[in-house]
Amino acid sequence: MVLVIDDSPDVHRLLKARLRQEAVYLLHAENGPAGIKLATETSPVVILLDLDMPEMDGFEVLRALKDNPKTLEVPVIILSGLQSPQEKVTAFDLGAVDYITKPFDLTELRVRVRSALRMYRLLQMLSQRAQIDGLTGLWNRAYFQTRWSEEVSRSSRHNRPLSVAMFDADHFKSINDTYGHPAGDSVLQGIGKVLQREARTSDICARYGGEEFVVIMPDTAPNDAKVFCERVRVAIESVAWPRHPERKVTCSIGIAGAAESVLLTPEQWIELADRNLYAAKKGGRNQSVLTDVSPAGLKLAKAG
Ligand code: GH3
Ligand code: MG
Ligand code: MG
Repeated sequence: MVLVIDDSPDVHRLLKARLRQEAVYLLHAENGPAGIKLATETSPVVILLDLDMPEMDGFEVLRALKDNPKTLEVPVIILSGLQSPQEKVTAFDLGAVDYITKPFDLTELRVRVRSALRMYRLLQMLSQRAQIDGLTGLWNRAYFQTRWSEEVSRSSRHNRPLSVAMFDADHFKSINDTYGHPAGDSVLQGIGKVLQREARTSDICARYGGEEFVVIMPDTAPNDAKVFCERVRVAIESVAWPRHPERKVTCSIGIAGAAESVLLTPEQWIELADRNLYAAKKGGRNQSVLTDVSPAGLKLAKAG
């Protein structure tokens, strides 16, 4: 999806005719405000932006696009009849990735769009890599923190169920001590694989640190979270580890969940899951402990 913001209908017509063969879908806006609106609603991969437009000029549009987190990263190529170095300098200073002067050569436009796309993909890849755990390929703790706060506020805003589970490998130190650190690493990778295989696509599996994992389960009621965790627990217990088939690995799990929105901060949720994890360890390991924090669940727990 390539968004063209230009007040000249001729430019739109020309691009439409000439880019027909390209694998791009063109979106058209004939003024700045309409362009900004389309950009936030549709997240195009590249924006072609005219500078000289009545009312809101291209510089203002560019500023607005760079001020909005939703459009901040979309590469903007200026497509302008203005040729002075000052205009170019200002455009690049404001964050444009390229500047093409009108009348433009279509082949040149095409390669420049392609190069902007390439850069965009590389940047996305880099920023994603910074959020991924190197050993297991799961999300890392930094990503988890951001995502978890978002999911907690989303759940309370829309009154949706939410659950979270902390997994901790049992006696993991002795795996390292007995079979060596690389064997321990393979176990962590194996646990990561089981989590990813068993989780729904909407679940977020992350390595919390060391031999601890955390799974965010949006739109998942406490009992369903418990069912999921038990399935993972049994799956991990059943793995035949190539390096030590004689030695099973188990994990303990602390779960907190609510069927509706509750007044817990992201930190309080995690403290609760952590406390349950500790209870699971104390209770003999290889088990899961759940607290249903929905008002109904808490009442039941108190009555019981
Ligand atoms: P518990 O059942 O109480 O959880 O016992 P534990 O041995 O699993 O827990 P403890 O916290 O005593 O030990 C965790 C071990 O995990 C210690 C640490 O060396 C190991 N560990 C942490 N990160 C890694 C890693 O990336 N690779 C490997 N191989 N080991 C790790
Ligand atoms: Mg631990
Ligand atoms: Mg452990």
